[in-house]
Amino acid sequence: MFICWERRCLKALARVDEQCRQWLHSVLGDRVFFDEPMARHTSFRVGGPADAFAIADDVEVIVNLIKGLQQRNLPFWVIGRGTNLLVKDAGIRGVVIVLKKMFGNITVKSDNTVKAMAGTPMSRLCRFALRNGFAGMNFALGIPGTVGGAIITNAGTAIGDMGNVLCEAKFLLPSGEIKKIAKEKLSFSYRQMHWDNKSENQGGSFPVILEAAFSLIPDDPVKLKKEAMKIVKWRKKSQPGRLPSAGCFFKNPDPETSAGQLIDIVGLKGKNYGGAEISQKHANFIVNKNNASAADILGLKEMVQERVWKKFHISLEPEVRIVGD
Ligand SMILES: Cc1cc2nc3c(=O)[nH]c(=O)nc-3n(C[C@H](O)[C@H](O)[C@H](O)COP(=O)(O)OP(=O)(O)OC[C@H]3O[C@@H](n4cnc5c(N)ncnc54)[C@H](O)[C@@H]3O)c2cc1C
Repeated sequence: MFICWERRCLKALARVDEQCRQWLHSVLGDRVFFDEPMARHTSFRVGGPADAFAIADDVEVIVNLIKGLQQRNLPFWVIGRGTNLLVKDAGIRGVVIVLKKMFGNITVKSDNTVKAMAGTPMSRLCRFALRNGFAGMNFALGIPGTVGGAIITNAGTAIGDMGNVLCEAKFLLPSGEIKKIAKEKLSFSYRQMHWDNKSENQGGSFPVILEAAFSLIPDDPVKLKKEAMKIVKWRKKSQPGRLPSAGCFFKNPDPETSAGQLIDIVGLKGKNYGGAEISQKHANFIVNKNNASAADILGLKEMVQERVWKKFHISLEPEVRIVGD
């Protein structure tokens, strides 16, 4: 496995061997697991084993851990709640660091800036905003996952996204430095956050988001709750809530064309492949209907791409991040 760094050239990465296991144990104690099935940590409920799976629940742990991994030249990958991931059946080589336990109290400053740590569940942040009469977060109601994952993927819907509400984020950089970066230095596009500082933005899972601050606007809590109820109702009506999935599988090819409609038109709604199915309720959701493997889901993905290309000459790009061997 290789990784490309700007000033060094291609360099082989190390593997999680016995010595590395011992070191990880000494740093993390019972917060590290080996050959851990990723199916346990993704909303799709599929995915083979990660060589090592580390739970980082505070900033000091994550900083020391990543420093040690860099020194040992070990590949690592930071995740939140795994709700936008399809991990392949052979799993992930290297160390997966999960941040979903890294959260504390959500706080408000006098200028109405709301701060939350990267592992804070989005549902918690949305409830906090509603309870305290802050407008701006309702778009995210029903988006599972963490604050960190939502920023990196610029999670959102037709009525808003993370780029609209973020005011700054605290990043861990490859140099080990922790830096606050204002929203103006970041750019957001459809389901993606970009950061242009090339000299820093390199390697592994960098930059790692540790904390974020949001600019929210005080508003009438009764009005906000009414709006929230409508949004939750819309989700329940239009999306398959019960079956494991990773949300919309494909990006919409453009703002006027919905990937779900294209999949519906080519007649694939309800189509099965192994244990995976194109949802009957929403054609852009692939669901794990019956003990699907990642290969089943990838099989459906290819079928969709092929059929949509044949009929419309549109190349559908996955919104879900496909990772692993
Ligand atoms: C039922 C359902 C409905 C959904 N609806 C929506 C929707 O309406 N809109 C939408 O946009 N998405 C939706 N999603 C997808 C998903 O919930 C979002 O993309 C979510 O924000 C991902 O957060 P996560 O913590 O699970 O990230 P993960 O899936 O764990 O990771 C996603 C990416 O973020 C990176 N990452 C995670 N945390 C950090 C961090 N702290 N620092 C650096 N990188 C990090 C990972 O490396 C990975 O590249 C839905 C998913 C499901 C299952």
